[in-house]
Amino acid sequence: MNITVWNEYMHERLNPDIKKIYPDGIHGCIKKFLEESGEGFNVKTATLPEPECGLTDDVLNNTDVMIWWGHMQHHLVPDEIVEKVYNRVQEGMGLIVLHSGHASKIFRKLCGTRTDQLKWRDEHDKEILWVVNPTHPIVKGIGENIVLEREEMYGEHFRIPEPDELVFISWFSGGEVFRSGCVFNRGRGKIFYFRPGHEAWPTYHNEKVQRVIINAAKYVYTPKPDFEFYYGDVESIL
Ligand code: ZN
Repeated sequence: MNITVWNEYMHERLNPDIKKIYPDGIHGCIKKFLEESGEGFNVKTATLPEPECGLTDDVLNNTDVMIWWGHMQHHLVPDEIVEKVYNRVQEGMGLIVLHSGHASKIFRKLCGTRTDQLKWRDEHDKEILWVVNPTHPIVKGIGENIVLEREEMYGEHFRIPEPDELVFISWFSGGEVFRSGCVFNRGRGKIFYFRPGHEAWPTYHNEKVQRVIINAAKYVYTPKPDFEFYYGDVESIL
């Protein structure tokens, strides 16, 4: 399975405190634990500053699962690239959207709603992600919850379409709740939105968070079909 970890890669370069948490970038951290998972993943990274955002046709056509982290510069991802990623998801590429990726162009396009809209507070809340579907493959090995002592708060109402599968609901110390692990099916592709991962806290060093992302990569992976379905000659019908 070929995985591409895409990161905007701005906070880690601009802010020394965040660089200390993720010296190789958030993408570097995620790549490392995926490679060390023993699952045999072939992991590459791509970042916004690279030509074509690192997402050339060659990269996209050879990616089975993409992981997406962005925050400040969603608007700098060109629409043509968003369209290409969108089409790859429709063809069966898995997509894991992390944290502030909720406001990315690609997630908004795939959901078709204002997924950028939610309640928000960055005052160091405690977060508990409660498993609401204990038999779901994404929560294998997690237990009943994940406790994060410090995280940014995202609260309902989160303007997503009704998820096809709900895996986690978060509680925050401010009293808010949030649908923090959601699966959506689009075309042949599966999308998993996973909420935690604010850049100022070491969330992606948490072993349970890592386990969820490893499980999710396997879950959203869709093998290529044995044959291509023939959709007919549209012009002859018209
Ligand atoms: Zn954040």
